[in-house]
Amino acid sequence: MNVFITKLMSTMTLEEKLGQLNLELGEPSAAVNAGGAKSNDFSNRVKQGLVGATFGGEFASNKLSQDLAMQSRLKIPLIFGKDIIHGFKTTFPIPLAMSCSWDPDLIKESARIAATESSAEGINWVFSPMVDIARDPRWGRIAEGAGEDPYLGSLIAQAMVKGYQEDLSKPSDVMACVKHFALYGAVEGGRDYNTVDMSHIVMYNDYFPPYKAAVEAGAGSFMSSFNLVDRIPATINKWLLTDVLRHQWAFNGFVVTDFASINEVKTHGVANAGDASAMALKAGTDLDMFSGNFINTLRQALSDGRVTLNDINVACRRMLEAKYKLGLFQNPYKYFDEKRRNTDQLTTQNLNAARRFAQRSMVLLKNDNQLLPLKKSAKIAVIGPLANSKADLMGTWVATKESGNVVSIFEGIKKMASSNSVVTYAKGCNITEDPYLLKYMDGPLSANPSAGLTETKTPDELRKEALQIAANSDVIIAVMGETSGMTGEDGNRSMVNIPETQVDLLKQLLKTGKPVVLVVINGRPLDLTWENENLNAILEAWAPGIQGGNAVADVLFGNYNPSGKLTTSFPRNVGQIPIYYNHLSTGRPYIEGKERYTTSYIDVNNSPLYPFGYGLSYTDFKYSDLAVNKKELHGNEDLIVTTTITNMGKYAGEEVVQLYVQDVLASIARPVKELKCFKKIMLQPGEKKEVNFTVKTSDLMFYNSDLKYTWESGEFNIFVGTNSRDVNSVKVNWNKN
Ligand code: BGC
Repeated sequence: MNVFITKLMSTMTLEEKLGQLNLELGEPSAAVNAGGAKSNDFSNRVKQGLVGATFGGEFASNKLSQDLAMQSRLKIPLIFGKDIIHGFKTTFPIPLAMSCSWDPDLIKESARIAATESSAEGINWVFSPMVDIARDPRWGRIAEGAGEDPYLGSLIAQAMVKGYQEDLSKPSDVMACVKHFALYGAVEGGRDYNTVDMSHIVMYNDYFPPYKAAVEAGAGSFMSSFNLVDRIPATINKWLLTDVLRHQWAFNGFVVTDFASINEVKTHGVANAGDASAMALKAGTDLDMFSGNFINTLRQALSDGRVTLNDINVACRRMLEAKYKLGLFQNPYKYFDEKRRNTDQLTTQNLNAARRFAQRSMVLLKNDNQLLPLKKSAKIAVIGPLANSKADLMGTWVATKESGNVVSIFEGIKKMASSNSVVTYAKGCNITEDPYLLKYMDGPLSANPSAGLTETKTPDELRKEALQIAANSDVIIAVMGETSGMTGEDGNRSMVNIPETQVDLLKQLLKTGKPVVLVVINGRPLDLTWENENLNAILEAWAPGIQGGNAVADVLFGNYNPSGKLTTSFPRNVGQIPIYYNHLSTGRPYIEGKERYTTSYIDVNNSPLYPFGYGLSYTDFKYSDLAVNKKELHGNEDLIVTTTITNMGKYAGEEVVQLYVQDVLASIARPVKELKCFKKIMLQPGEKKEVNFTVKTSDLMFYNSDLKYTWESGEFNIFVGTNSRDVNSVKVNWNKN
């Protein structure tokens, strides 16, 4: 590779080298309309070798662009990127939902399918995985990540990268782009694009691990984030992009900016666009997404001495290496096998996988008196503004407009109920009547018919219809929550509840005296305090994707016994945010019943409504006999932790057995608990299994105040349980010598 690239670069002009650092929109007309790079003749720019990659295009436009690149002097192929976030044509549950499966193999499989489907579309580079740790459900983009835990987040980051890039020599594999580097999930107040301010200890211990894990999995590219890191925009932050990413973690791929983020360096108040380009290149950014600044200003920066030819060569080489790794020099049309669009996309196998993924992503939050699973013969009223919606099951970042295959929840239930049962549907209310929210839902990000904007019936008429079918039913399935457009990029909310109009309808439905099962469709942890107190059963279904309706029916009728566990804490109210399980102890920890002068609120319990790791099953699991092989450990010995799990109920089911560790005394304050291992096991009714975990000294390591990765002798609490709250514990002493 090196010899080939060195030879190629020796023939390139400065302009052609800068061209490799320029990423434009994949639809030429759209690129021009959006006023991207200065020249409005995309075709000519490609033919002159002034474009290195495009994003957002699909088969026809990508093929056309590659044809143009092949007409350029050096015929350097283009890379084609796209935001493939949770499946492509076969849309899977949103990433936050997928993370609740606690199943890295399943998540890897989802990335493999996404790779196969998108590579059949001429796409060879996906803007995924998003591995930003998030502790704030107000942030709309919490939907795109794997939740609040660095350990689980790291496993999922690796699974995604390996799924996309199993073998880049194959035409069914695509290059991953890990985003958003770094700390994007920690924006203040949960407002996208807002400021991030964080100590290095928190960065290294809590926020960096998934990015680092993705590097270790061999990720081919990284995307810098919009936010500041140490008050310097990530895109021009040399410490971040070079010292940490390349020197400390040995990343050897390329770094792309987020959308036109070089322009934002100026609005951050740090440098104007021309200087920002030079600073970005020097910091370790290789590819400029859409701003046009690299191609338009770096020649000048070179003659002023703000960048060197070597800086440009280094970035250019990285881009060429990526193309080489993708096999594009050998065959620029490797990803343009038209036949594959028929054979590899939306296959029955992929749709079945989507259904499996959705079943395993759902979390049963409440199930009083075993209301669920439902009898297939029950008379069921399916009610709610999301009950027959298709678009909202797809969630944020839907990469394809083809929604013909989406199954709504009403359709899924109706299909699965027995032929003599009666399943009826009524919308019941609009998503919201709040004019402020409606204004945004009707905006360009989220135009959505289910928002009620096209509704011709009055709220009164809608409610009457719903109450009527409810009165004639045995059970009500209320499908409520958020539309796709209420989450995702810039889908931030200051209230993380089910909008009032829907809750009002729930209150009316309760008055019928019929049992109510709430199926929540959403993209963030919600405050479900009222719902938890008043409803009989709650199923967290998230935005479950193309097969969401079938999968919800599978779970409601017990064809699949739910096994999902939350990967984010659900708050009791918005004032508790940020709330996360791996917090620090503080000098005055909260003691239930003794709130005053401990770290607490006087108006709400400190604990989350549903803790990290929480999720019920139709069966009951009993934990017993927690034991360790030794209580005094030395050096690099292994600690073996054993526990027994018994299925006490009458359904077969899966359980995620979780192990947490607390480092009781250390040179810096350590979290009250940290997830270190887990196992997902299947138990038949009455079956008992012994589960063993091996805890190693590597599980005790953390970054100390010198940012040295180490562990310290002392006492450790080991917790094992069904979630981060309900655990059994044992104490051990572990000494270095
Ligand atoms: C988002 C990225 C995305 C990019 C390209 C940006 O606004 O932050 O996540 O990959 O747009 O669509």
